[in-house]
Amino acid sequence: MLPKPSPRLGQLGFLYFPPYRVEGYSIAGEATAVTVPEFDVCFDIGVCFKPMLTSRFIAISHGHMDHVAGLPYYFSQRWFQGMGMGTCVCDRRIEPALRTMMLGWVDVEQQRTSHEIVGLAPGEHHEIKHNIFLGPFEVDHTVPSVGWGIVERRTKLRDEFIGQPQERLRQLKQEGVEITREVRVPQVAYIGDTLPGPHLLADPVRRARIVIIECTFFEPGHKERAITGKHVHADDIAELCERIEAEAIVLTHVSRRTNLGLAKKMLHERLGEAHSGRVHLLMDHPGNRARYEQQCAEAEQQASA
Ligand SMILES: [Zn+2]
Ligand SMILES: [Zn+2]
Repeated sequence: MLPKPSPRLGQLGFLYFPPYRVEGYSIAGEATAVTVPEFDVCFDIGVCFKPMLTSRFIAISHGHMDHVAGLPYYFSQRWFQGMGMGTCVCDRRIEPALRTMMLGWVDVEQQRTSHEIVGLAPGEHHEIKHNIFLGPFEVDHTVPSVGWGIVERRTKLRDEFIGQPQERLRQLKQEGVEITREVRVPQVAYIGDTLPGPHLLADPVRRARIVIIECTFFEPGHKERAITGKHVHADDIAELCERIEAEAIVLTHVSRRTNLGLAKKMLHERLGEAHSGRVHLLMDHPGNRARYEQQCAEAEQQASA
């Protein structure tokens, strides 16, 4: 028998939910790195391909190798290619360990790589663009682990001032009256490895437009394994669909052993017609390609109408 070529490694999953793209690579235990280019953020960096490199921010969920291994390479390549220093935001509990890791690389390479690591605790935020904030929330895995929410802060006119003429509003403002209030609009939530629980219904997840979440197990017999490894099972996704508002739910961290065709069939059965259209597998290349081609065709049709 002839030797087989290696499986096509490095092919990136791609999904478009206007105006946001979700792009990345994610196989349980191997590597997970998922970017949303419009926010300049890459969630986890188990591997660092070009699209991850162009993200100015890396948000790490937890310290397992398949979520962190690409980080020193990311810092080094950003610098080497003149892309400016990258910033890693992480759970405050693993910040010292990540710093120690970067210090280790100084000895290995005999040179110092510029980098920025920002440790955050749940409730704290890092501003990544004007009025757009990235912040962690606690999840439940075998090691300290957080999810991330990208939340936009908008100012809105207070209800009692709606309909008032501009001049009056300007006058009130000059008098020091607070005429606006702040509203928080969760855009994207990312959940690395976790057991399901109430943390998946916290505001940044429940109200987000796009939820990117791990789903490692699909088969009915694998529920126990999901609980032991503190991972999400497809049954949990069905339940989650009922309780979160997201227009799109992107599943990552599917194991290489999982047959994608079978996983899609099982998901469809569990989710039913009502939710099937909302749930996507990041690494379902044929399905996602067909979906994107459809989007392109529709856009073309609209342009020519
Ligand atoms: Zn993992
Ligand atoms: Zn893990």
